[in-house]
Amino acid sequence: MIKKKFFLEEVVDYTFRKYKDFKNLKVIFPNRRAGLYFQKALSKKIKKPVWSPSVFTMEDFVQNYSDIKISNDVTDSIQLNHILYQTISMHNGSGFTDSFEDFFYWGQVMIKDFDDIELELVDESKIFKAVKNQKEIDKSFDFLDKENFDRIKSFWKKFFPKMTINQKNFKETWEIILDIFIKYRGCLIDKKIAYKGLVYKEFLSMINSGKFKDKSDFLFVGFNVLSKSEKKILKYFIDKKSSMAFWDFDKYYFEDFNQESGDSFREFSNDKILKSTFPEVKPNNFIDNDKKFSSIGISSNIGQSKVIGNILSKLIKNKRFDEDKVLILLPDENLLLPVLNSIPTQINNINVTMGLSLQETSISSLIKLLYRIDKRKYKRDFKYCHYFKDVIELLTHPYIYQFDESITTEIITDIKEKKKIDIRNEELSGYSIFLENIFDLQSNLILKLKKITEYIFNKSKNLSVLDKEYIKSFLDIIYKIDGINIKLNSYENEFKLLNQILRMIRIPFSGEPLKGLQIMGVFESRNLDFDDVFILNMNEGNFPKSSFNVSFIPFNIRKAFNLDTSDNHDKIYSYLFYRVIQRARNITFIHNTSSSIKSNGEVSRYIRQIESESKFKIKNYFISDKLIPEERKKIIIEKDKNTIEKLKTRFFSNGYISPTGVKDYLECPLRFYYKYIANIRETYPISSDILKSDFGKISHKVLEDIYSDIIKNKANPVLDKNDFFKIKASIKGMINRTLKSHFNLRKNNELYLEGNNIILYEIMNNYISHIIKIDEKYSPFKIIDLEGDKKSGYHKTLHLNKNYKINISGIIDRIDFKNDTFRIIDYKTGGDIKNIKSIESLFSNKKKDRNDAVFQLFFYSILLKNKFKESTRIIPGLMNIRDLNKSNFSINISINNQIVEDVNPYIDEFESLLITKLSEIFDIDKPFTENDDINSCTYCAYKNLHSG
Ligand code: SF4
Repeated sequence: MIKKKFFLEEVVDYTFRKYKDFKNLKVIFPNRRAGLYFQKALSKKIKKPVWSPSVFTMEDFVQNYSDIKISNDVTDSIQLNHILYQTISMHNGSGFTDSFEDFFYWGQVMIKDFDDIELELVDESKIFKAVKNQKEIDKSFDFLDKENFDRIKSFWKKFFPKMTINQKNFKETWEIILDIFIKYRGCLIDKKIAYKGLVYKEFLSMINSGKFKDKSDFLFVGFNVLSKSEKKILKYFIDKKSSMAFWDFDKYYFEDFNQESGDSFREFSNDKILKSTFPEVKPNNFIDNDKKFSSIGISSNIGQSKVIGNILSKLIKNKRFDEDKVLILLPDENLLLPVLNSIPTQINNINVTMGLSLQETSISSLIKLLYRIDKRKYKRDFKYCHYFKDVIELLTHPYIYQFDESITTEIITDIKEKKKIDIRNEELSGYSIFLENIFDLQSNLILKLKKITEYIFNKSKNLSVLDKEYIKSFLDIIYKIDGINIKLNSYENEFKLLNQILRMIRIPFSGEPLKGLQIMGVFESRNLDFDDVFILNMNEGNFPKSSFNVSFIPFNIRKAFNLDTSDNHDKIYSYLFYRVIQRARNITFIHNTSSSIKSNGEVSRYIRQIESESKFKIKNYFISDKLIPEERKKIIIEKDKNTIEKLKTRFFSNGYISPTGVKDYLECPLRFYYKYIANIRETYPISSDILKSDFGKISHKVLEDIYSDIIKNKANPVLDKNDFFKIKASIKGMINRTLKSHFNLRKNNELYLEGNNIILYEIMNNYISHIIKIDEKYSPFKIIDLEGDKKSGYHKTLHLNKNYKINISGIIDRIDFKNDTFRIIDYKTGGDIKNIKSIESLFSNKKKDRNDAVFQLFFYSILLKNKFKESTRIIPGLMNIRDLNKSNFSINISINNQIVEDVNPYIDEFESLLITKLSEIFDIDKPFTENDDINSCTYCAYKNLHSG
C-alpha cells in the first residue's frame, strides 16, 4: 500500500504547485508548532536555494499590522488585569477598596468575557443589556466553587452594599460594566496592549476602511472552528486578495452529519466566499485499511505511564522504529512527569509541547513553604526563631536542597543530632549567601522569591530542563509584577496574588521543537501527523475534557450571542481527536479503569464511537496493576577472615556486645551485618514530637537523676521513707530539667510544649510518679548502681567455639539491694510481657516467640553475678508502664507462669545458649542472611536497602 502523505506534506506540494515565487508568500497557521513543521517539510522538498515563505500564526499575522501588542503570555495577562483593576478603582473612587490580589481572579474572568465579546463582534451594549435583564443571576454562578463565588459576591457588594447577588439591583451593576468596558478599552488602546479580540477588531476596521496595503500572497492553513472576527479576516483575504485556504479535514466526518467534528467544515463549504477554497475531491485518509487500533485499560495513572514505557521498550527493538514518527498525546498534563520517567532511555530525543500549570510544580510548593515559615516565625530571647520542622521542610524542598546539598545536610544533621527545636533565623542565614536570601527577614516575599529563583536558575547544577522552564516562566511573572509596580502591602497579599496567578495561568512549554518523540497536549497537535499515536487518559472527563465557561455572562446569553460555550468545546475536542488519528497507522488508547476526581473510570466516548461507527475493530486489553512482586532472591552475605577480624575488634579488643546487639542478630542476621560490620547507621525520620525512643531516654534519665541527687549527699546509699517526700516534690522539676537538656534548650529558656507533647509530658509524669510510689512502698532499700555499665564493672568475657572470645556488657537501669537480695530493675515504657515459655525461647529467631525484655534481665544477671562473684539471690524485675497502675503490680518475671524468685538456677542454661548463639556469629561458614520472619522488617531502618 502506498503511504499516504501527511497533511503538511500535502500543503508543501500545494504550495509548490500554486506559487511560483515564495518570496511574497505569507502562510498563516493556527499555531506555531504547525508552522515549524511546515518549514521542515518544505526544506526537505527544496533542492536548490529559494526564498522561504514567511510563516505566521494568526495572532502574529494580525499583530504585524497593529501597534497594539496582543497579550500573549502570563506577564501580559497580569498587566491587563492590573489596568482593569485601576480602571474600576478610578470609576468607583473611594467606594472600591478591594485589593488587587482579591480582584485578580474575577478580573481574569471579566477580561475573558470582554475578549469573547470582541472576537465574536458582538455589540457590547446589547449583550450587557441582555445580562442585565437576566433574572436568576445566581444560577449563572453555579459552576463556581464556594471560594470564588464568595469572592465575586463580595466584590459586587462593594458596588451595592445592600444587595444580594440575585436581586434585581444586579441590573445596575451591568450598567456600570458597560461604562467600565468602554473606559478599559480606551485605556488599553492608549497603553498599546490588549487582549486578542480588541486587536482583531481594530485590524478588521483597518481592512474594511481600505487601509490594508500589503501586496503579498496569503495562504491560510489548517483552521477549524473560527471566531466571527477570524472568519471575517479570512473571507476578506480570499475575496479581496485572491488568497487561499487549505483545510485539514477528512471525508469521514465531513460527509457524516452526525459527526460534530465536521460541523465547521460543512458550514465553511457552504459559505459563498469560503466554498471556493474547498477541494472537489474530499481528502479520504481516515478509512485507511492499514490502521490498527488498540485500547488498554489499567487501574491507575502511574500504570498508564508504565504501559507506554513497556510498549515503547518493545517498539524500539524493531529496526524500522523511528522516534520522530511517534506522538504521545496527553489530555491531562499531570501525567507528564510519570510518562517522562517511564520513557526508555534508548529514545534519544524527547520533545514536550503543552500548556502547563505552574500550580502543580515545585515553584508553587516553594512559595507556600516560604510563606509559611515567615508566618510562623516567633521570638525566643528577643531573637526570631523558626520551628525546626518548618526549617527542615523548607531545606528539603528539591530546589533548596540540591542547591548546596552539603550545607543543607549539615544543618539538618545538626538539628537532628542536637535535637534543636527553636532554630534562630540569624544562625540559618549565616550559612551561605543563598540561605541569607532565604532567611532575609527584611525582604518582601516577591523580592525574596526573585533573588532565590534567580540564584537557583543561574547557579544550580542539577536542575532538569522542565524545572528550568518553570523557574524561567516564574521569573517572568515576578519581573512583570515588579515592572508594573503593583502595590502589595504585605507578605500575605503577595502570597495571595502569586497563588491566584499560579492557579489561573498556564505556561506554554515547548522544548527542542522538531526532533524525536513528541509529547503534546491536545491543542498543540493541530495539523501534525504521526504514524504511531498513543493517547493517554482516554476517559470521559479527560478527553473530551469536561469544560465549563467561567464567565459573568450566563450560558443562555452566551449561546444567543454566539459566544464560545461548552458546545463549541465539544466540537473542537471531537475534531482534534479525529484529526490526530486520521492519518496515523497505529493508534493506542490508554485509559484509567478506576474513578478519579476528573473521571469515573468510564472510557472516552471517542473509543465507543470508533467501535460503533467505523469499520475498525479495536483490540481491547485490560491490565491489572496489582502486580505480584517477583520473588526476590534473599540477600546472603558470606563471611571471610576480614569479617571475623572485624567481629573480634568490635566485640572483643575494642568493645563488647550488648543485649541489643544479640537481639539484632536474633531478629535478622543481615540487619546485624548492616549495623555492626558494614557500619551503616540506622536513620529514622525526624519528628517534632517526643518520640517513643525519646520518651524512654528522658524518663530513664529523670529516674537516674532523682535517685542519684538524693544518694550523693548520703554516706550510705539507702533510700528510706523520709527521702521519698523530697523525691516526690522533685519529679516535675526534674522532668523539665531533663527535657530542656534533651532538646538542647538553654538554662533560662522556657520550655514550650505543644499538642501531643503536652499529653506525653503528663504520661511521663504519671509513669515516674507511679514508680516512685512503688519504690516508696518497698523502701528502705540500698541503691547499688544506677545506669551501671562496663565502667562500673558490669561486663564479662565469654569463651566461644574455636577459641574466639567476646565481651558482653550493657547499661543496667538500676540494681538495688535489700534483705540479702539484689534486684535488677529495668524500666520499660512499652507493654512488655513478663512471662516466658522457656529459657530457650529467648533465643528464637521468631519475634513473637522471643521476649527481649526478659532476655535483657538474664543477660544483666550474668554481668551482676560476674561483678560480685557470689551467689546472692538476684530477682530480675520489670517496671513496665502498662502494668504500673494495676493493684496487684509486681516486678517479677516468670517462666511458664512460675515466678523467678532467684535467677541463679537459670543462669548457666542462659549463658550456655548465649555462647552457642554468639559462636554462630563468629562462625565463618554461617553467612549473614535475611530473617524469614517478615515481622522483623516492619520497623527495620534498613529495609530501603533491599526493598523489593
Ligand atoms: S528489612 Fe528485614 S531482612 Fe532486611 S535487614 Fe531489616 S529485618 Fe533484615
